[in-house]
Parts: sequence; C-alpha cells; structure tokens
Amino acid sequence: ILRTPDELAEAERYTAHNYHPLPVVITEGEGAWVTDVDGRRYLDFLAGYSALNFGHRHPGLIAAAHAQLDRITLTSRAFVHDQFAEFCRSLAELCGKDLVLPMNTGAEAVETAIKVSRKWGYQVKGVPDGQAEIIVAADNFHGRTTTIVSFSTDPDAKADFGPYTPGFVVVPYGDEAALREAITPNTVAVLMEPIQGEAGVLVPPAGYFAAVRALCDEHNVLMVADEIQSGLGRTGRTFAIEHEGVVPDMYVLGKALGGGIVPVSAVAADRDVLGVLKPGEHGSTFGGNPLACAVGGEVVRLLATGEFQRRSAELGEHLHARLNALIGHGVVAVRGRGLWAGVDIDPALLTGRQACERLAERGVLAKDTHGSTIRLAPPLVVTREEIDHAFEQLAAILA
Ligand code: PLP
Repeated sequence: ILRTPDELAEAERYTAHNYHPLPVVITEGEGAWVTDVDGRRYLDFLAGYSALNFGHRHPGLIAAAHAQLDRITLTSRAFVHDQFAEFCRSLAELCGKDLVLPMNTGAEAVETAIKVSRKWGYQVKGVPDGQAEIIVAADNFHGRTTTIVSFSTDPDAKADFGPYTPGFVVVPYGDEAALREAITPNTVAVLMEPIQGEAGVLVPPAGYFAAVRALCDEHNVLMVADEIQSGLGRTGRTFAIEHEGVVPDMYVLGKALGGGIVPVSAVAADRDVLGVLKPGEHGSTFGGNPLACAVGGEVVRLLATGEFQRRSAELGEHLHARLNALIGHGVVAVRGRGLWAGVDIDPALLTGRQACERLAERGVLAKDTHGSTIRLAPPLVVTREEIDHAFEQLAAILA
C-alpha cells in the first residue's frame, strides 16, 4: 500500500545506494505532516533529522525565502550583501558570542570548528606546529567528510575511507576520568555532542559537561559543542548544553538554522577564538549567501520568541511520560530531552527498521538507528493530539 513501485524503482535506478529509505514517496508537506504520491498523510516524526524544527513550510520562513528570491540570492563573500550583517549579529546575540562564521552543511561547520581550534592552538595557546590534538567522544556523529570520519568509531562510517586525518583522541562519552587522562599540553579542543543523536539520543550523566567545562578551563582547552542536531529548540532550550548549566567556547550549528529550506550552518565563538581567521584562510562560495541569511535570520527571530523552546519542553514532557509508560511493554529504554527521544524496542519483538516500517504503514514516519533503537523527533509545531496519535500507533505495533 505504501509503495508506488515505479517511483521507488526510478529513484533507485540513477542513484548511489548510500541510503536505504523507507518505501514512502513524499510530494508535499505542511507543519508536522507530509503527503505521499497517493495522497496518504503521515506525521513526520523525524523532521529531517531536526532540520525541520519549525515544521514543513513554516509560513514566516517561506515568506522570508520568497521575499529574498525576488531580490538577490547569491553574491559570494567577495562582496557584502544587505542580509549578512543582521543575520550574523542576531545569531551571535542568540548564542551570546561575539562572532559568527556562516557555512552551509553541518559537516562544513564541524570542519570549521576543527580548523579554528587548531589555529587557536598554535597561535594563542602556543602548541608546537603540527601537534594539535582534539578530544572527541566514542560513538560520536559529526558528519561525513574524510577528516570527520577519521575520528568516527562506527565502522560503517569509517571503514575503507582512509588514510585518516591524525590529531584526534577518542574517549568514552560521559567518562570524566578518561577525559582528564586524555588531556595533554597539546590538547586544543574537546569536541562533543551535548546529546549524542545518531548514537541513539544518548544523554550524558548528570554533571559530565560541567566537568568537561572545568577541565577545559583548567588546561586552557576550547570546549566545542556540536549542537547541529541537539540545538535550536529541540530539547526545550535553545541549546541542549544549557541543561548542563555550562557555556561552551564554540557552538557548532546547522540543520534547523536553514529552516528546512536551504542548508545553513555556522560556528559562533568569541573574538579571541574566531578572530584567529584572517582573509583567505577559510571560506565557502555559498556560506552566508543572501537567501541563507534571510531564512536563517527568520529562524533566529522565531527562536528569540522562546515559543518553540517552550513547546518542546512542555510537549516533550508529555511525550516522555507516555513513552516511559511503554517500558516493559515492548520498550526496553527511553532516553532524550524535550521533543527528542531514543526508544529501544525489545529486540525479541522487532528491529528498529521493522518498527519504522510498521509505523509508516500506520501513518507515522520515524527512523531507526543501531539495531533496535528508533528516534522520535517531531517538528516543534506538533500538537499534543498529534503526539498522542503517534504514540498510539507505536503502542499498537508493540502490542
Ligand atoms: N553533527 C551532528 C551532531 C549531526 O547530527 C549531523 C548530522 O546528522 C552533522 C554534524 C552533519 O551535518 P550534515 O549532514 O549537514 O553535514
């Protein structure tokens, strides 16, 4: 019923097989809903891996995009355009940082954070040339470039893509003692996700990031928070790291920053860090283009109202209360914060993939990760009733 075999076969015929999508062919979306080629509607509980925090075609974001499309879309950074300064100013203010550097994809922003951390290490901290070390967590996901997969611990992401970029040290996520041991005089940064998304929405032990912050301060090391998936309202706060009561030296942002319309990513940091970059040392043809800044600026305005963070916090509590009630009834564990949940399905019952296929048959789209885990991350415009509807479908496939 789900399949439109011709559409699916056509999609497969001309593409590399680097994804294994659910057999749903989508033509339209609005708010928390998408519609397939047969007119069937689905609640979107993946929300483009959190790139659609404001839902499909949010009216304010679409209006900002339309208005900009009618004026100018690309200048390159060789010239200045009239959307640039205001977007960077507003995003810097949202982050509480001096400076912003806009890029396009999440992986590019992570690469930017790595380059800035290294340069800061050599120029400010005084690390000997070529010796900079960045500490990362096991089971991380920061993107797909050759440097980023060099410090992945997932064989699917890493194997056969070497030779790998050196200069990274992997420690277990959430282990303060291991981090303390790993820091050397050459450590320039600790790069981590405040909640590990692709690993299965893993929330760190209470106090872990406060300890990370303290160790970074003690050893003059930059604390870099990859908030590409966890940030911009997803967990009930603007940034997931806020739950830990600490402020990182650098935020890495992406996904929802582009409003689900264009790829927009950025790093934000103070002048003593991001100021190490001089003209010609880093950049991107499309980074900070007028369309991206117009949409990204509207995203920042939406976040500045606090409405989406509030919705995520309140509805997230409801979502988690309902999911927790399923533990022992087909669910082994539930993790997450706000409107973001990793749900471990009893592997004796269903794989994560099977669970997502059954959910899709019942009109709910979600995505599995690592065997028997599914993650739920609806757009933050989702209603309580829609959450209840999705929950009932989950309960039904587990019954
Ligand atoms: N960092 C985190 C935490 C992510 O979740 C992702 C994507 O899932 C990325 C980086 C990479 O972003 P992109 O796919 O836009 O390159």
